[in-house]
Amino acid sequence: MTNTFVQSNSIAAFQKAQNYMPGGVNSPARAFGAVGGQPLFMARAEGAYLFDIDGNRLIDYIGSWGPMILGHAHPQVVSAIQQAATRSSSFGAPTEKESELAELITQCVPSIEKLRLVNSGTEATMSAIRLARGATGRARIIKFAGNYHGHVDSLLVAAGSSAANLGVPDSPGVTAGTSQDTVILQYNNLASVERTFAEFGHEIACVILEPIAGNMGTVLPQPGFLQGLRKLCTDYGSILIFDEVMSGFRVALGGAQEIYNVRPDLTTLGKIVGGGLPVGCYGGRADLMDQVLPAGRVFQAGTLSGNPLATAAGIATLQLLRDTPPYAYLDQLGKQLLEGLSSAASRHGVEFHIARSGSMLTFFFNDRPIINWEDADRSSRSSFAKYFWGLIHRGIYMPCSQFEALFISAAHTPADIDATIDSAEEVFATLKSE
Ligand SMILES: *Cc1c(COP(=O)(O)O)cnc(C)c1O
Repeated sequence: MTNTFVQSNSIAAFQKAQNYMPGGVNSPARAFGAVGGQPLFMARAEGAYLFDIDGNRLIDYIGSWGPMILGHAHPQVVSAIQQAATRSSSFGAPTEKESELAELITQCVPSIEKLRLVNSGTEATMSAIRLARGATGRARIIKFAGNYHGHVDSLLVAAGSSAANLGVPDSPGVTAGTSQDTVILQYNNLASVERTFAEFGHEIACVILEPIAGNMGTVLPQPGFLQGLRKLCTDYGSILIFDEVMSGFRVALGGAQEIYNVRPDLTTLGKIVGGGLPVGCYGGRADLMDQVLPAGRVFQAGTLSGNPLATAAGIATLQLLRDTPPYAYLDQLGKQLLEGLSSAASRHGVEFHIARSGSMLTFFFNDRPIINWEDADRSSRSSFAKYFWGLIHRGIYMPCSQFEALFISAAHTPADIDATIDSAEEVFATLKSE
């Protein structure tokens, strides 16, 4: 890159932010704790590029941690939000647009027969767990180490994402009582799930998982894992919940369940479903969803749920994804990045493992295949931090942790990917010489 990287404005902004917000941020990963140094403050973004308050231009591989699959400030999404805003940003009464978004979601993800719109992925998983417990009358839930389902108390145990970086799988404030009904098992280890069901299967309300994991870095389900969970849940009358907050509309229009052809009872969505505005969604079998108030007795509500601006952004995004699917193009860019990074790393003797599903990818500084959190945890955090900063200095903005997936958008070009591979090669060369 010819431009030189500067950070003085961001450093001043971070100093001020720390006076007002814990750690200077409104979500922990943004503080760069896992890679050291100080975060960049953003001014604006367009397509695949971020522009920070020092005037650096960066190729964006975070996409707001998933939502921006069409690139930033897509004209049709912007205009949908603008038009909705002139009609009022909230009513607290039903609108036809909510049914329009709901219908679109059910068309894209056929296992979702009925749904509720909420405001975040966290709210979606929290509500899905409550429904599973309410519907089965059972207390226990199974989750997998390294899977992140938002900051729901009962799910904030062995969670990946920021929790993994901070080394606080159990957050202070999550009581033993809250987490005692959460059973933590190893991802991709079907035998351990089978043993658990054999022991107390009739007490298990649900199994919740990321069907393609992204919050311990990208980790794909092993053949038969999802199918095996489906069968166990059916046999024991437990609810299978796919948390597709990240993978939904990302790996395919119908999410991981489309790729692996497994039908969960409930699905949680977030991120892309709101097109960059705060939307979450949980839905699935109509008979289950009809147990939610006021059709049924399981309580769940939200002042801003189905918010008109958020709904407009979601509709515009899903319509574009359905009518002009970018998935083949995204897959091609993902493949280009995987192959480029692999050969650059090999040329410089960097040991690595890459996992990818479409436009979601993680480069692990790890010489072994990764199928669960224990494998991922053996990756070199220090090499990752050098790689991360080396790329920032060259105008490439990667997720700031070894245990996050990067995302490519439909606004990226093959030239952006090539520039990224060239920069990575320069950084790999410096890693080896140390
Ligand atoms: C991001 C994420 C969540 C939490 O969503 P928020 O909108 O941040 O609350 C839940 N599950 C998965 C799989 C996620 O990637």
